[in-house]
Amino acid sequence: MTERPAVDVDRRRGGPFRWGAGSGIVADVSTVNRILVAWLAVAMLLLGGCKKTVEGEQAAWTSNVEKVNALMATYPGFKPALEERMGKAKGIYDASEGLDGEAKANKLGEANSTLMGGYVRDLQQLDKDMKDLRTKRVEAAAKAGDESSRLGAKVAAEDANKALDRADKALAAGAKDEASATAVVKKIKDDIATAAKAVDAVLEADKDKKDEKKATEDAKEAKDAAAKADADAKVAPWKCEYCGSENPHDEASCKSCGAPRAK
Ligand SMILES: [Zn+2]
Repeated sequence: MTERPAVDVDRRRGGPFRWGAGSGIVADVSTVNRILVAWLAVAMLLLGGCKKTVEGEQAAWTSNVEKVNALMATYPGFKPALEERMGKAKGIYDASEGLDGEAKANKLGEANSTLMGGYVRDLQQLDKDMKDLRTKRVEAAAKAGDESSRLGAKVAAEDANKALDRADKALAAGAKDEASATAVVKKIKDDIATAAKAVDAVLEADKDKKDEKKATEDAKEAKDAAAKADADAKVAPWKCEYCGSENPHDEASCKSCGAPRAK
C-alpha cells in the first residue's frame, strides 16, 4: 500500500514510468501516421491512374491494337466483326491527331475503350476462363473425397467438357459482324460461367465434407483426451489436506496422519 503512491509520484515527476508510458503513446501516433501516409499514397496512385495522359493512352492503344490482332489470329471466325470494331476505333483515334493535351488524351482514351469494350474484352477474357474451367474440372475430379462427391464431380466435369466443346465450336464458327459477335460471345461466356459455377459447387461441397470430417475427428480426439485425463485422475495419488503427505489413489485415509480423504 505504501509503494503505490511512490509510483504515482515517479510518474508525475517524469521518472522511468513516464518514459515507458510516453514511448507507448509515441509508437501509437507513428503507427497512425504510417497508416495515413500509406492511404495517401494509395489515393494518389488511384488518382494518378485515373488521369489520362497522351503518352499513357498512346501506349495503351498500341498494346490494344496488338491484342485485337492477336484475337483475329486466334479466332479467325471473328475477323469480320473485329475488323468492324477496329475501323470504328481507328476513326476515333485518327480524330485525336488534330488535338492537344487533355483533349487529345481523352480522345485517345475514347478510341481505346471503343476498341476494347463489350465482346472484345469478353473474347479476350474467355481464353483464361476456359483454361480455368479445364483446370478446375480436373481438380474437382481429383479432390473428390467420397463416393457422392466423386459422382457430383463426374457430372460437373462432364458438363464442363460439354460447355468447353460448345465454346470451342462457337469460337471457331465466329461471327460475321459486331452484333452477332456480341450475342455469340455472351452466350459462350454465360455457358462457361455456369459450368464453372457447377464445378465450384462440387469443390466447395467436397471441402465442406472434409471440414466436417476433420471437425468430427477433432471432437473425438478431444473426447478421448478428456477420458484419458479422467482415468489418470482416478489413479493419481492424493495429497492430504492436513499434513500434506501423498497417498495412493485407493487409500481412503491418510497413511501418515490418518485424516480421511477430502471428498
Ligand atoms: Zn495426513
